[in-house]
Amino acid sequence: MDSAEYERRIAARFATFDQDRNGYIARDDFGTATKALLAEFGTTPRSDKGQALYIGAEALWQGMAGIADVDGDQRVSRDEFITGAVKRLRDNPERFAEIARPFLRAAIAVADEDGQGPTAEAAERALRALGVAPEAAAMGAAALLDGNGRVAREDRVLEVFAEYFTTPAPDA
Ligand code: CA
Ligand code: CA
Repeated sequence: MDSAEYERRIAARFATFDQDRNGYIARDDFGTATKALLAEFGTTPRSDKGQALYIGAEALWQGMAGIADVDGDQRVSRDEFITGAVKRLRDNPERFAEIARPFLRAAIAVADEDGQGPTAEAAERALRALGVAPEAAAMGAAALLDGNGRVAREDRVLEVFAEYFTTPAPDA
């Protein structure tokens, strides 16, 4: 894969974060994603799970802004995202997992409806609520499952997300 292809794929990831499609990733995009996920699972923002998700989303936004918001205008342009993501995440793939962990941990808890870990169906609903395209959501959910058909391992979820954002996904 050449670097142009790599950057094209990273740019496609940008669209997932830019929830309102205004060309910038900003704090309110994370708020939109958080609200959508909570609504999908009937979780109130004031509940423990809701609060944890908001805190995780803020940490993810701060982490992303720290990596990519080079001009400090509190929003990440497409160019900043591509440059920041390509440069920083390629050099340090663990970094994404680190900044995403609180959000993903909270999202797993929201999608876990019976305390046994999210089902494949719940994982797919969660990914779609977060703005992942339907086919990618189905594939993503399948990749997250353990042998029991549940999303049980946080480290596995982090691995899949880090992979998604730093290396090419299978063609969908
Ligand atoms: Ca936006
Ligand atoms: Ca910026």
